[in-house]
Amino acid sequence: MPEITLRGYQCSRCKHTWVPRDEARPLVCPKCKSPYWDKPRQDEMKKKFDKIDRARLK
Ligand SMILES: [Zn+2]
Repeated sequence: MPEITLRGYQCSRCKHTWVPRDEARPLVCPKCKSPYWDKPRQDEMKKKFDKIDRARLK
């Protein structure tokens, strides 16, 4: 089965990407353990993830 990478998160600190195993938003980056992994400096990334979150809630 091919790997699906449409859904997932990217740490804004270390650029590590991963796919969550459940619906809960991870509190920290699994790689660098930063609690600020979802606080990108660029708003473009936030908009991208917000869009994914809305899609996941439907
Ligand atoms: Zn990280």
